[in-house]
Amino acid sequence: MIPIFDSGHAGLINGFYETPGKRSPNWECGIFYEGMGNRWAVNRLIELCDRAGIPYYHVSPELYDVSLQERVKRANDIYAVNKNVYFLSIHHNAGGGHGIEGFTSIGETTSDKIAEVFLQNFKADFAHDTTLRTDVSDGDLDKESNFFVLRNTLCPSVLLELEFMDSKSGYLNCWSETVMALKVESMFKSIVKVYNEL
Ligand SMILES: [Zn+2]
Repeated sequence: MIPIFDSGHAGLINGFYETPGKRSPNWECGIFYEGMGNRWAVNRLIELCDRAGIPYYHVSPELYDVSLQERVKRANDIYAVNKNVYFLSIHHNAGGGHGIEGFTSIGETTSDKIAEVFLQNFKADFAHDTTLRTDVSDGDLDKESNFFVLRNTLCPSVLLELEFMDSKSGYLNCWSETVMALKVESMFKSIVKVYNEL
């Protein structure tokens, strides 16, 4: 199965972030804009997929904040012609806490299988780091409206929250190039496994 990437929220356009909220406090490294960080991760994954010859789709390549309805529509249009896909939405978390969380669409067993691959790899790759936790929850927790994408995509769907932006340890992880590189490597390993085995 191949990923349909979704970079949550907007990117920076001429230094401006159009998405309301969805950013860290202005601590010592500056403001971490969620959509900016989501694109760092997705852009790195795209490079790795290109180099490995692994195909993918991307429903939000634009820097402006593509509406959730449009993201879902694009994903469903892709699924209509290619059933071997899964939606992979990349986000960063808020609400205080730290670590990685994965969410899946409700009652979709393939989503759970895919999420399990990602979270197991995260667990193994971050075993040394006690500030990182991994949890699988089903989508009905409805933590934020972006879960709209999990509810409305027809293909298996996984949403990863790569770290909390508004706790101090999470914030520092968000800005850490080393931690970002490790997360991307871990996710790419999962993409390869899902591509070869599911
Ligand atoms: Zn988000």
